[in-house]
Amino acid sequence: MTVVDNLLTGDLANLARLRDHAAFTFVQQDIIKPLQIEGPVDEIYNLACPASPPRYQIDPIHTFRTCVDGTLNLLTLAEAKGARILQSSTSEVYGDPEINLQHEGYRGNVNTCGPRACYDEGKRAGETLFWEFGAHRGVETRIARIFNTYGPQMHPDDGRVVSNFVVQALRGDALTIYGDGSQTRSFCYVDDMVEGLIRLMASNEKMPVNLGNPGEFTMLELAKLVLAKTGSAVPMTYLPLPQDDPRQRRPDIARARGLLGWQPVVPLDLGLDRTIAWFAERVRADRQKELLPS
Ligand code: UDP
Repeated sequence: MTVVDNLLTGDLANLARLRDHAAFTFVQQDIIKPLQIEGPVDEIYNLACPASPPRYQIDPIHTFRTCVDGTLNLLTLAEAKGARILQSSTSEVYGDPEINLQHEGYRGNVNTCGPRACYDEGKRAGETLFWEFGAHRGVETRIARIFNTYGPQMHPDDGRVVSNFVVQALRGDALTIYGDGSQTRSFCYVDDMVEGLIRLMASNEKMPVNLGNPGEFTMLELAKLVLAKTGSAVPMTYLPLPQDDPRQRRPDIARARGLLGWQPVVPLDLGLDRTIAWFAERVRADRQKELLPS
């Protein structure tokens, strides 16, 4: 197995368990540059690109190029190697959706000139490239539309809502609610997502498939759940809602159920317990490091 990462938002520590395997290779590279991989390649998972809004907005042109030039480079590699390739697309292709349950036939409501466009439009273009290579160049393509995913090993400063709330509660900081907290998201635990991606890769489906957990929560509900589970009494502080922040998001996973026999099995309640346990350990370790004399 070869892992390619430019470590823009990734952390080598997350690969610690894999690095000792004889069959494991790590390449530090940006996929915007063409990849040279020796020998045969069976499958490629394109999981590249920061997914957290504050992270992907730091360098929007680079984000866009990761999604377009990077995806084109990997498709070219797949074609040359005869490899099957899976694209991590996103629920962001639906933008700020006008319908409550987003199914794959919905064409979305994306602002092309706004702070989220570099990611949303990049991912939409990525799907177009996948479709062209799949429909007209004989490449075995798969497209997963991934909805909000969370779990252990996220970066404490990732900036997305689950890690923000959990880390804030554990550190004793106020929870940052953007807007009035009534916007909704559907949160999928990482193990469920990985299982969905593997099943999609193994399937014969070339058209996009939603992968996500249909349980829908407001950000206020999530905040209260995190406070209850961490036993924290920190206050909530209300900050402005970022521009173009989707009001609602909930996947229709009928296609994933039918085509892949897949559905999430880890409810938010359990996934949060596991995530909080991991972050609690991480926050403790970080505190200890701060206390050690340098
Ligand atoms: N959000 C929030 N507080 C935070 C971070 C995010 O209230 O500290 C909100 C954000 O405005 C959005 C939702 O939580 O409505 C999910 O944001 P996230 O960045 O996790 O993912 P995305 O917006 O890409 O779905």
